[in-house]
Amino acid sequence: MRAPLQQIETSGELPQSADAVVIGGGIVGVFAAYYLARRGMKVALVEKGRIGAEQSSRNWGWCRQQNRDARELPMATRSLDLWERFAADTGEDTGFRRCGLLYLSNDEAELAGWARWRDFAKTAGVTTHMLDSIEASERGRATGRTWKGGVFSPTDGTADPSRAAPAVARAILMLGGSVHQNCAARGVETEGGRMSAVVTESGTIRTKLAVLAGGAWASSFCHQFGFCFPQASVRSSILSVSPGAEGLPDALHTARISATRRGDGGYTLAISGRGRVDVTPQQLRFSSQFLPMFLKRWRSLAPGGLQGVRSGHETLQRWRLDRPTPMERMRILDPVPDRATIRLTFARALELLPALRKTTISAAWAGYIDSTPDGVPAIGEIDPVPGLFLAAGFSGHGFGIGPGAGHLVADLVTGSEPIVDPTSYDPRRFDASVWGKVADF
Ligand SMILES: Cc1cc2nc3c(=O)[nH]c(=O)nc-3n(C[C@H](O)[C@H](O)[C@H](O)COP(=O)(O)OP(=O)(O)OC[C@H]3O[C@@H](n4cnc5c(N)ncnc54)[C@H](O)[C@@H]3O)c2cc1C
Repeated sequence: MRAPLQQIETSGELPQSADAVVIGGGIVGVFAAYYLARRGMKVALVEKGRIGAEQSSRNWGWCRQQNRDARELPMATRSLDLWERFAADTGEDTGFRRCGLLYLSNDEAELAGWARWRDFAKTAGVTTHMLDSIEASERGRATGRTWKGGVFSPTDGTADPSRAAPAVARAILMLGGSVHQNCAARGVETEGGRMSAVVTESGTIRTKLAVLAGGAWASSFCHQFGFCFPQASVRSSILSVSPGAEGLPDALHTARISATRRGDGGYTLAISGRGRVDVTPQQLRFSSQFLPMFLKRWRSLAPGGLQGVRSGHETLQRWRLDRPTPMERMRILDPVPDRATIRLTFARALELLPALRKTTISAAWAGYIDSTPDGVPAIGEIDPVPGLFLAAGFSGHGFGIGPGAGHLVADLVTGSEPIVDPTSYDPRRFDASVWGKVADF
């Protein structure tokens, strides 16, 4: 049972040329193409499978500033406004609502960490409320428990992963852009050392500007033209339940379980941070660069299996532009969820939130979360191919900051004033060590 996803109809006919080509129709790619099209550019977006079908429909839907690393907080704040403005400008419904996020805990150290973040966030103009035991227990009354404390972040919210990327893709079409599904970009061509065309399985699009928003496939794509982008993915398994549980918070995080209300009234349930590492050639290649991240997160990670090798997204193979590539063999990265995690998640959810006993599991799925060594995305022009911009490695945070990331990409591509300072996202930063720089949350 895959994650639910709205289907959209798009054109099979590829333009011969475009002002800009966006590779990848996840939330980052669609927002990048949308903001480019809004500037009057002729934009073509190519997606090897279906719009939104990989990470962007498989996530919880949280759009949060809460606990964000300092390098990402400005983008998170701008993104919340952009989610709202997108709906107002287009009439499209991504399901975004500022419902607030609730965090509950009985762990003094965790509460102290949240309080430190609250003090830092204040300096960035972000409001978040620490809850004392009475307030936390009241807000968390659906658990029927007493809590030592918590946090409520009133300006944060959620959007609907099953609807968001398709809604933005429709807006691209309304602006005169073109969107092409089942169309893998196999590589790029250069002329005079600059980007000159994107080669796809259905033909070549001449363009001087392109964006690679390929999610978990970005590094193996970069490998084709010799750009080293350290990226590795973790398989995260989650589930959704049917509507029927009333009185639960819209978005709740605890150390044991997280629950998010879905657009259909059901809930998405997950264990935060938990994942399996499926070994791949790419992971072995970048293992030393990911050591600091691994040492920080190893408690919630477990070894996986060989499905990452079979998926082909982290291959070190070099492919030809006139033959089918691994991307055409794996149209939609759809890893098998970890059954033990699904069982444990549901059991913990029923224990913590008794109202869920009225529900049944409606779907269970997994997604490969693509990460960089420091847990911060890579956004910027790629040295070996001037005119090609990378936007990937969103490290489990890319859905909520998708609008801001897409806007920043459009700013960089068009040479406009960037919506946020892009320095922290520079893809060349991985030439230096990331020891001491791994994002906290
Ligand atoms: C279980 C889970 C929970 C998560 N929870 C949250 C959350 O609550 N909040 C949050 O902010 N983030 C969350 N995330 C992370 C978030 O989903 C991702 O960071 C975000 O969706 C990444 O978007 P993207 O556009 O970069 O990549 P993707 O959504 O993976 O899209 C990349 C697209 O590019 C396409 N593509 C790749 N290569 C090519 C090519 N050569 N040609 C054509 N198309 C190509 C792929 O088919 C894919 O559709 C979660 C992720 C998972 C898996």
